[in-house]
Amino acid sequence: MHYQPKQDLLEQRIILVTGAGDGIGREAALTYARFGAQLVLLGRTESKLQAVQQEIAAQGGAPALVVTLDLLHATPEQCRQIADDLARQLPRLDGVLHNAGLLGDIAPMADLSMTMWQEVMQVNVNATFMLTQALLPLLLKSHAGSLVFTSSSVGRTGRADWGAYAVSKFATEGMMQVLADEYKNRNLRVNCINPGGTRTKMRASAFPHEDKNKLKTPADIMPLYLYLMGEDSRRKTGMSFDAQPNRKPGAAE
Ligand code: NDP
Repeated sequence: MHYQPKQDLLEQRIILVTGAGDGIGREAALTYARFGAQLVLLGRTESKLQAVQQEIAAQGGAPALVVTLDLLHATPEQCRQIADDLARQLPRLDGVLHNAGLLGDIAPMADLSMTMWQEVMQVNVNATFMLTQALLPLLLKSHAGSLVFTSSSVGRTGRADWGAYAVSKFATEGMMQVLADEYKNRNLRVNCINPGGTRTKMRASAFPHEDKNKLKTPADIMPLYLYLMGEDSRRKTGMSFDAQPNRKPGAAE
């Protein structure tokens, strides 16, 4: 995506990123902070979130909040508690990037265990739903809220062996479409990003044999992440965007 954001694009915006300790989420959090946003860093490993918090401070960003939550065991009560705590500290949320995700086993449907199925659905779908429901009141306090879900190529066209992960990403696209329609006359836009193959730990576990130097880095795909959180996308809702529109799905060649 060729997008030249203004340096103050996210000034005065408060953005929560899930899975902010590593991979694409970490890069998104650091990038949003560089463009002026105040961050809420949510994830499972506190030490990684604290490292991102320190990096934001070192680059001169607004002080970031850290929220530790393991989405694998998240409950609606926990999510409501987090939203209540945030409401005491922040006037609103202007953006939420649902980025945390679990790949699960790459295996034929016939061989998928029920436990693996449920874990992937819990992290990628159920916890995303619970957090969204809890955070909606804070998002609706923004004059131009942006809710962004993370999809995948296999969330649009099914592919053998991508099992629960693919199904969870179809569900993510569905959740985005339903919410976008529900809030189409309000000050909240709802969209999906498909990052496309990106050099992270998750990618390496899905494609252990590919040449990772042929993959874009999380930093390379940030223009779309910025676009959807800033005012240039304010009229876009109900859409699924590709961070790498010309990339063919599958292993890097
Ligand atoms: P990584 O595995 O590198 O990072 C995932 C992040 O999510 C980590 O910070 C991880 O925390 C966090 N996370 C995982 N499980 C939980 C949990 N139970 N509770 C809280 N946080 C959790 O993945 P990517 O950066 O590659 O992926 C980011 C998103 O992009 C995912 O939704 C993925 O499906 C999607 N995507 C990625 C592609 C790629 O090629 N990389 C392609 C298409 C889609 P911790 O650091 O503690 O492990």
